[in-house]
Amino acid sequence: MTEEEKRKAPVEEPQEVDPDAVDAEEPIEAIPVDDEEVAEGEENIALKGKKAIIKTVEKTAVTRRGRRDESPGEWVPRTQLGHMVKSGKIKTFSDAIRTGLPIREPQIADHFFGDSLSDEVLKVNMVQRMTDSGRRTRFSITVVVGNGDGYVGLGSSKGKEVGPSIKKAIDNAKLNMVELIRGCGSWECGCMQPHTLPYRVEGKAGSTVITLRPAPQGVGLAVGDVSKKILKLAGIKDAWGFSKGQTKTTVNNAKAVMDALHKITQMKVQESSRVELAHLSGATGVSTIEQEKEEERR
Ligand SMILES: [Zn+2]
Repeated sequence: MTEEEKRKAPVEEPQEVDPDAVDAEEPIEAIPVDDEEVAEGEENIALKGKKAIIKTVEKTAVTRRGRRDESPGEWVPRTQLGHMVKSGKIKTFSDAIRTGLPIREPQIADHFFGDSLSDEVLKVNMVQRMTDSGRRTRFSITVVVGNGDGYVGLGSSKGKEVGPSIKKAIDNAKLNMVELIRGCGSWECGCMQPHTLPYRVEGKAGSTVITLRPAPQGVGLAVGDVSKKILKLAGIKDAWGFSKGQTKTTVNNAKAVMDALHKITQMKVQESSRVELAHLSGATGVSTIEQEKEEERR
């Protein structure tokens, strides 16, 4: 690429290089519009290419959403667990997890949680690279999905278009949903409601370490931004959080929080402590997301 071409190209370097997003081994898919135009050496190629991409993204996002809303009931299960869920043999998501069968269909989460599921995009990473045949753009998306009441999952996806990649990441998050244990582990509180964590836990991802601590009622989520989004969708109302290490990577932050939440479910605890700390696994029937919406309406 000549100096002049570089100057004309309005788009640039990776906007934020996230180690998870830069995956050298993964084959890169070509962007049709862009590639041809680069080869012809037209002016404003990059700009034209970008506009075309954005148009495609918008279009796809709309059609995808439309299609999903039109036919929510047309799920044809492809897995054993899917069939058991759809036929009504399995009554709750908790039971689905307890079968030990892998959750391979996002419709399983949709079936039990329906509209109570919320999602939030934690990170959109755009990575552009120059190759011999032109510019290649890929997006790496990380989302969190939760029901605001004891179930939360993290998912990610990579692709050349934002809209479909977000959809894929959400579906992926639905396959990774975990059942949390909540409780009242704050000695200052002792209210016996599962509004916070039962214990202090530490989660790790890469060099990021996040510690979450039970907090008394009313403290809210005194944690970092990423933790806050996840805990909120998980249905945890109060918590204190601290982080160490490389804390600027959103993706590692999110993974560390999930690691911490997962560790709580793995702890071996005596029955007396379970009672004392108001252990509750899974749903209470009250979604913190719904509660918040109601409070806003008032
Ligand atoms: Zn309490």
